[in-house]
Amino acid sequence: MGGPPTRGGFNGTLPGRMSALPALSIPAIPPFEAALAEMAVPLVLLDAAGTVTFANARAAALLSCAVPAGLSLPALLAAFGGAEAEGGLLPEALRTARPVRSRLTLDGDRRVEAALAPLSAGGFALTFEDVTEQLRGAALARQEPLTGLCNRVGLHDRLDAALAEAAGTGAPLAVLMLDLDRFKAVNDTLGHPVGDALLRKVAERLRKATRREDVVARLGGDEFAILQAGAEQPQAAEALARRLVDLVGRTYVVDGHMLNVGVSVGVAIAPADGRDADDLLKHADLALYRAKAEGRGTYRFFEPAMNAQMQARRSLEIDLRRALALKQFDLAFQPQIRLETGQVTGFEALLRWNHPERGPVSPALFIPLAEEIGVIVGIGEWALRAACREAAGWSQPASIAVNLSPVQFRGGKLVETVMNVLAQTGLDPARLELEITEGALLENTDSVLDVLNGLRALGVKISMDDFGTGYSSLSYLQKFPFDKIKIDQSFVRGMEDNAECGAIVRAIARLGASLGMRTTAEGVETPTQLDAIRAEGCTEVQGYLTGRPMPAAQAAALLSPPTAVSPA
Ligand code: C2E
Ligand code: MG
Ligand code: MG
Repeated sequence: MGGPPTRGGFNGTLPGRMSALPALSIPAIPPFEAALAEMAVPLVLLDAAGTVTFANARAAALLSCAVPAGLSLPALLAAFGGAEAEGGLLPEALRTARPVRSRLTLDGDRRVEAALAPLSAGGFALTFEDVTEQLRGAALARQEPLTGLCNRVGLHDRLDAALAEAAGTGAPLAVLMLDLDRFKAVNDTLGHPVGDALLRKVAERLRKATRREDVVARLGGDEFAILQAGAEQPQAAEALARRLVDLVGRTYVVDGHMLNVGVSVGVAIAPADGRDADDLLKHADLALYRAKAEGRGTYRFFEPAMNAQMQARRSLEIDLRRALALKQFDLAFQPQIRLETGQVTGFEALLRWNHPERGPVSPALFIPLAEEIGVIVGIGEWALRAACREAAGWSQPASIAVNLSPVQFRGGKLVETVMNVLAQTGLDPARLELEITEGALLENTDSVLDVLNGLRALGVKISMDDFGTGYSSLSYLQKFPFDKIKIDQSFVRGMEDNAECGAIVRAIARLGASLGMRTTAEGVETPTQLDAIRAEGCTEVQGYLTGRPMPAAQAAALLSPPTAVSPA
């Protein structure tokens, strides 16, 4: 080792002559030397002891100063302004004579990658690459443009790094998965600019609710995530989740609109709930799913049982997707009775799923799932057609009520579907009653009202089902002239021992009477309940007392010959 670096045509004279960069412009420089001086890569040559023997023009430009020969490597690094600490690896390489790369910061904001390589003939070559833009690009690639938060890739990177660090110390860390409740309604009714502004406000609140060192990310749509490291768990995550539910749930003002959204939160904690990023995110997601299923606006921690429940749900989902093609659905018909006469006025068609291995699956279980995965559109159309076909064959023109899911209003084809079914089955439109819940009106009121008016124009009747369980009931009754209000069974059931339930039933019955709408009390099971709803002025009753849901043949038999069913 020692002596000037010599390689190829390099004649060994350069280092001795080199004092500072301007000296390189001396005309007598041999061609190879000149090439080194002008090469595009910033280059510094050092002798075996780590003393600068040569620096080209690019190196001088990078450092914004000449690099004098004779400078030691640490002194050279000092020119980077605070780079000594980061560049500590480089002097180390002088000792071990192994190639090494290190990132340095220049002028406070420029990032430079330095590579020191020993030369076979002795000494070292130190090259630099300005990676500022490259790093900035990488940072941008990890940023979500709308809110400026970290994106999914960024979160994954930070989570990987935090997990690697935590693996060493055994310290726990929490991942919180967030999903806004009711955001879609805002976006659909007020438009994307308002939706975007709202998301930015939510992002601001998330930043405020968290510590500087927490990572807040937007994963897309109205989904966010937070990585909380270096805190006592699960207490810190629980406190944060509670704060988020409160803060995000407060009213926003955007463009003069008062907006209310909520947030559901799922929490997973490493290492107990997962040791790698994918597992943790998946488990936080399962906990979020649970939070949403259990009423939204709340948080849940991951529990191992959720994995099994998700598997069960997936398997139910697979079966449900096939059920229609495999003809596993059937309809039951529950009589509706006019209180005044005791006469059956019609039936409600209720979907039944008979699975060969599972047995009968409750609509309360499969209908929400069918709505979630969208298959309710096909199933609902099947139910409508089957119900109308059945009713068209009855010996009396009794009415047939069919339930519509809010999801069926979204595709824009509902009016056409109903029209086709009526034409195919030959059912008099006046005999068809379509039952909708407040859920349908919640989402996109104007377009739903258009569909309702379209249906009404076909001559069918529209009922408001499960009335009293939603929250803007009265305004909807005013917006659309329903033919019938069905009072939710929870009020009927509560009448016997809760005076308020009686008062609500009475109020709805009166409201119906004054708006010219019929009122049906649902879920009447006892003679006492029947007396009570009669006294409150309801016009119809539908419940186990007056008739359970029954097979089609039995319903048809009930109508023929004309039968009067005594309700009490
Ligand atoms: P719903 O439309 O309010 O239907 C009434 C539900 O109350 C039926 O439950 C019926 O069996 C039950 N019921 C009637 N009388 C009594 C009673 O006296 N006591 C008690 N405890 N229950 C009574 P089912 O058949 O389990 O249906 C549950 C829900 O599933 C329905 O509530 C409806 O929302 C939905 N559903 C049923 N069929 C369809 C369908 O074809 N399409 C859609 N989208 N939803 C449907
Ligand atoms: Mg119904
Ligand atoms: Mg109902």
